[in-house]
This record gives sequence, structure tokens and C-alpha cells, in this order.
Amino acid sequence: MKLSIILPVYNESGNIRPLIERLSQVLGGMEVGYEIIAVDDGSTDDSYEQLVNWSSIEPALKIVRFKVNAGQTAALSAGIERARGETIVTIDSDLENDPADIPRLLVKLDEGYDVVSGWRKDRWQGAWMTRKLPSMTANWIISKLSGVHLHDYGCTLKAYRADVVKGVRLYGEMHRFIPAYAAWQGGAVTELPVNHTPRVYGTSKYGFGRVPRVLLDLVVLVFLHRYMNRPMHFFGSWGLLSFSLGILAGVAAILLRLLNIKHFVETPLPIFSALFIIVGVQLIFFGIIAEMIMRTYYESQGRRPYVISEESR
Ligand code: UDP
Ligand code: MG
Repeated sequence: MKLSIILPVYNESGNIRPLIERLSQVLGGMEVGYEIIAVDDGSTDDSYEQLVNWSSIEPALKIVRFKVNAGQTAALSAGIERARGETIVTIDSDLENDPADIPRLLVKLDEGYDVVSGWRKDRWQGAWMTRKLPSMTANWIISKLSGVHLHDYGCTLKAYRADVVKGVRLYGEMHRFIPAYAAWQGGAVTELPVNHTPRVYGTSKYGFGRVPRVLLDLVVLVFLHRYMNRPMHFFGSWGLLSFSLGILAGVAAILLRLLNIKHFVETPLPIFSALFIIVGVQLIFFGIIAEMIMRTYYESQGRRPYVISEESR
């Protein structure tokens, strides 16, 4: 088995037939062993029944059905967990992505990359202010914060070497950040312009509410990347800073009092002092608790805070 295709499916009734037909056509022409794993994310239309019908026509089609809707990230992650191919390709099932791009992604991957991310270069033409600009801004922020420069993090059409993506645990809206994660682990990441056709059947499952959620997930991810195995360095530095400011303010208040310049009640310094000292101590305690949690995480699961590339006997 060389290739696993993962499809997240949520109420895509009208798209199942053309999607599977096009996938079978493209993959059948490639002369590689493949499987298609469709994850039905608790659809309330007849997507599941359609998939079951298709599985008797396309034997490579495997179906996983969630009891209730768990989100696109969860669907992708269930598919990735089950994938048996050396290469994993994720693709939207609403035909916004073009199955005909898959061979090109694989050629690029064979040049020695671990992740090839699709870039919907021609998306949002004619909607510059309302869609293109916000999307460019979001991708710019993600690139800056993660240090991994891609034009289109949101494109589901991506190809991965399986061992790079298998160990990644995905939460929230995080599937889009797998390339950043892979790069942090030392993987080679690149992007490739792909076709984009607006949806014909059904409607988008997301509204504008996704933007803040994606950015918050990014904050979590970047924080974990930088401080996962040393949270005290983060909380502790701010804690020490706050504590020192508190002491300084306290000393200043006492000096002013002793020199008879100002009484305690005449300056805000004593309040600042108390506040900064309390916040400082709290932050340091946060750091200690975070360290204990991280030790539980690493030690209970036998995880290591490093990735080995070679080791001699
Ligand atoms: N999807 C899913 N679960 C969800 C929402 C979406 O599996 O809760 C799937 C959906 O069927 C589609 C893909 O994720 O294949 C992308 O969703 P959508 O097209 O609505 O997002 P957009 O293209 O508007 O970003
Ligand atoms: Mg879509």
C-alpha cells in the first residue's frame, strides 16, 4: 500500500458521487496501491448511505462513521490514524480541491519533502477586500508566529510522508498547522499552487467565527512549541519581572515616606507594590504547576523532548 487518501465528510450529499468518481479515475491511472478513507463526521443527510453504496463499486473505499459531529480536525485525525499508506493525502470532499492535483503533489513530495501543502493561488478573485485580504492577513500572522512561511495554511489538500504526520495529536482547529509542526520537528515543508473551484453542491460549514478560533489555536501551539518542556521559563520570567517591580515600588514608597516627601496614602505606589508582588508570586506558582503537569505528560507516556535523526550502535 503506497497511498492513503483521507476525506472529511460532513453533509456533502451532492458531492460524494462526483468526488469518488474523479478520485477513482485519477488514482486508477497512477499505478500505485491506494486506499480512500472517508470519515463521515456525523452527517445528517444521506452522505453515509452514498459512501456505503460507492464502496461496492470502488473497493479501495473505506468508511468510518462518527456518531455525532466532531469537526473537520477530528475527522482528519481519525483518517490519519487508520491510514496504512507510506504517503497520506488529505483533501476536502466538497470538490473545492481538485483530485487531479494529487499526482503533482506526489511528484513534489518525491523530490525529498515531508509535507507538500496546497496553495489555492487563485482563490477569492473578485472579493479582494472581504475575503482575500483577511485570508492573506491570517496566513501572514500564522507564518510570522510559526516561523514557517506558507501562503495558504487553510488548504486541506496536502500530501505528507506518513511517519511525519502519524505521531501528531490534533485538537481544536489544528489540522491546518501540521506543516508548521512538521517543520519544527525538522521536516522539509514546501507548497505547490493547486486548482480551486468554489463549491457547487451544499454549503460551507464555517462562518467568520473560525478566524478567532484558528488564531487562539495558533497561540496554544506556538506556546507549546516554545515552552512545552520548560514552562517555568515563561511563567517564571514574567513572575520575576512583576515581583521585582513590586519590590521597587515598595522601596520607593518607603523612601518617600522616610524622607517625609509623601505619605503612603498620597501615592499609588503601595497598591502597585502589593499588586505586582502578588501577581509575581502567582505566576511563579503557575510555573511550578505547569512544570508538574509537563512531567506527568512526558513521564507517563514515555515521551522525549527531542527527535533523533541518526544514532550509531
Ligand atoms: N467538514 C467536516 N466536519 C465539520 C465541518 C466540515 O468533516 O464539522 C468537512 C466538510 O465536509 C468538507 C471540509 O471539511 O469536506 C471543509 O469544510 P467546508 O467546505 O465547509 O469549509 P470551507 O471550504 O468553507 O473552509
Ligand atoms: Mg469547502
